[in-house]
Amino acid sequence: MHKSPKLFIEAVFRASDVLILAPHGGNIEVGTTEIASFLAGDRYSFYSLSAPNHKPSHLFDEPRCVELVQKSLLVIAIHGMRENSEKIVIGGLYDSELLIDRLRESGFEAESAERYPLLAGVHPNNICNRGILKRGVQIEVATRMRDRLMRESGMRERFKKVVDVFIAHALQKSRS
Ligand SMILES: [Zn+2]
Repeated sequence: MHKSPKLFIEAVFRASDVLILAPHGGNIEVGTTEIASFLAGDRYSFYSLSAPNHKPSHLFDEPRCVELVQKSLLVIAIHGMRENSEKIVIGGLYDSELLIDRLRESGFEAESAERYPLLAGVHPNNICNRGILKRGVQIEVATRMRDRLMRESGMRERFKKVVDVFIAHALQKSRS
């Protein structure tokens, strides 16, 4: 059976300085919509796009997304890197050392995207870097880690806790 390609967008604006998004959601980078939605909870703005084609992050221009991004101080993009491991690779222009450290302390296999030029997310036009701060965070989650985050609620909660602490810290820093 042949299904015609579909575009599916979820965009939720919440009175928050933070937007969590999955620009390659749905079946493109499986699990990223669910992970982004979970991290957003009922607290942060949320956006997910499921499209027939993978659009590079620095060319991402879907209008509803751009509108949400421009209203948000900090943008955190969730992606799915194609690697059969449990790695979480953190890129983007924001200084994410704290996030990486805290993830590691919580038992996650997190590392900086420095060694992954293709996942660095440092292009100024990358969707994660187009919020008000002009530097955002790109979280690339490898296949097995996405599986686990989808299946294991305890792990999901642990992940969310670390991201929440990081966000609180980032917001506090931006106000001081
Ligand atoms: Zn992606």
